[in-house]
Amino acid sequence: MSLLDKLDTVAAARKAVLPEGIDVFGMPIEEVYSSTEASVGGRRILFFGTNNYLGLTFAPECLQAAHKAIDSEGTGTTGSRMANGNYIGHRALEQEFADFYHCRSSIVFTTGYQANLAMISGLAGANDVILIDGDSHASIYDGCRLSGAEIIRFRHNDMADMEKRLRRLGERTRSTLIIVEGIYSMLGDQAPLVDIVKIKNSYGSILLLDEAHSLGVLGKTGQGLVEETELIDGVDFITGTFSKSLGSIGGYCVSNHLQLDQLRYVSRPYIFTASPSPATIASTRAALKLLRDGTKLRSQLWRNARKLYSCLDELGYQLGPEPGPVIATILDSPQQALMLWKGLFDYGIYVNLILPPAAPEGKSLVRCSVSAAHTKEQVDYVGNTFAELRKKHFQIKS
Ligand code: PMP
Repeated sequence: MSLLDKLDTVAAARKAVLPEGIDVFGMPIEEVYSSTEASVGGRRILFFGTNNYLGLTFAPECLQAAHKAIDSEGTGTTGSRMANGNYIGHRALEQEFADFYHCRSSIVFTTGYQANLAMISGLAGANDVILIDGDSHASIYDGCRLSGAEIIRFRHNDMADMEKRLRRLGERTRSTLIIVEGIYSMLGDQAPLVDIVKIKNSYGSILLLDEAHSLGVLGKTGQGLVEETELIDGVDFITGTFSKSLGSIGGYCVSNHLQLDQLRYVSRPYIFTASPSPATIASTRAALKLLRDGTKLRSQLWRNARKLYSCLDELGYQLGPEPGPVIATILDSPQQALMLWKGLFDYGIYVNLILPPAAPEGKSLVRCSVSAAHTKEQVDYVGNTFAELRKKHFQIKS
């Protein structure tokens, strides 16, 4: 089959599942009214699928900082960190991340995707092993591929399976990188970090924790699962993103290992891409301060998350294993997922649709993400709409 025919086959498969006349995966957002409301397809919608966990995209401190940076430093750096794109703000933000985690050092990347690509491919190479949770984000899988290391997966959050696979590696555990996530992006559940750290210590491996969805969400100051479990000393490298709780775009890694700095010279996704724009860096610096002092925002986020989770659970929807800001409804087929997604959209609620092969184990998901900025009325409206749709269309779970 030719390269272009292959794409036609994929397009035909997509068309067979998706409805006519609505671009489920590419609808442009026309106007943004706030961190929770916008217009799509000429109608007002509620955002319930963004990862704006603390609702900071319109925080006045962040807007002001970004405006000021554009006026004084321009719209872009037009260079990589290695080649004229390393501004004082990038370094300042790295210092602020290191201070925030009380760690020795930090590196800022252009996206969270690139942070994982850079760290994984910089740490592991052809003769090494990477052991990952099966439900890992695509950036982790892609980082593993880029590294050229042997990739071994263990069943999602299954510690017996993880240990079995480590045991089989014998001496090679010393050149093994284990990767897990603080909160998993698909089902919204947390990694059993206490057990993971114990096991990795006993085998002498290195542990990288991706806190993309847990930064700002877990822990007293919002560091993530490391703070919630008080295990910062048990984790070797922490990566994360600015594109969720921090409301901008970019990525970071923090570590106490002296060798972190060396990654700047060996990681292609750090070297061969332009650095984040001055406005991005400035708004992220402002957001990090708000996140750190964001105890109230975190309480509000968790109130909303628990409320929506228990409402959908009581309605009988099949959900991910535990409450959290990512609330995934698990459906038996892509058609059912699409019907639920479309039903919600018709009521003005815009959530994420995840179809195989993107979702784990061939499942189809309708995934809501809750924000501290959602009002009680908005959360109630979403709960009531799920109830309405269940009555109308579904007998999803017994
Ligand atoms: N890691 C995880 C677990 C994620 O869910 C994501 C984004 N969805 C990323 C990394 C990449 O982050 P970014 O959007 O900054 O590229």
